[in-house]
Amino acid sequence: MATKQQKEALRILKELYPDAKPALHFSSPFELLVATMLAAQCTDKMVNKCTDVLFPIANTPGQFAQWTEDELFPYVKSCGFKSKAGNIIRMSRMLCEQYGGQVPDRMEELVKLPGVGRKTANVVLSNAFGVPAIAVDTHVFRVSNRIGLADADDVVKTEEQLMRTIPKKDWSDAHHWIIYHGRQVCSSQRPKCDACAVAPYCRYHLAAVKAAEKAGADTKKPAPRRKKKEE
Ligand code: SF4
Repeated sequence: MATKQQKEALRILKELYPDAKPALHFSSPFELLVATMLAAQCTDKMVNKCTDVLFPIANTPGQFAQWTEDELFPYVKSCGFKSKAGNIIRMSRMLCEQYGGQVPDRMEELVKLPGVGRKTANVVLSNAFGVPAIAVDTHVFRVSNRIGLADADDVVKTEEQLMRTIPKKDWSDAHHWIIYHGRQVCSSQRPKCDACAVAPYCRYHLAAVKAAEKAGADTKKPAPRRKKKEE
């Protein structure tokens, strides 16, 4: 159950980003799955650059299942590790062999695929299948814990807490609101707290203000008098 502060923070985020949507380009659950796998430790912009070239050439499990890692890697090398190409090939083969060439729409099945973890599975479930889900990426983890929508030191606990704090009907949208806020205002190194509409309800900001007030009060206190040496 959300507190009054958490509800206010969510209301403001919703108002700030009413049109928040996925930044990755895709036209099928499989394209989204591949793009999300490529997006690990890479920007969505770079992934789109790669997939805009790749998907017109191959965009089904059956096609990728025929490729080798070395054949795919040149198309995706700007997105990082060669292992991503290997995982996409193995994931495609598993879809062909065990799922009739279709991306499953259940978490338990998705996380069995090579290279697919909870975050990727949640992105696919919410954006390709319309299943309410909260994918906790680096932005969602940082921003939700700063604001106080969650209070956890790992992504799994953060996801569980957000699912309790946020109404289920808003899970998928809230994921996008929080990502947008992380990208535009609440960056990792320099959060723009002075320009942030959520500041009055943000635990991180309120704690910083309190600490600054305490430090200010301490510097105004008269210095303690030194005890005179006894003669
Ligand atoms: S007040 Fe600062 S820390 Fe809190 S959400 Fe806004 S930018 Fe992030």
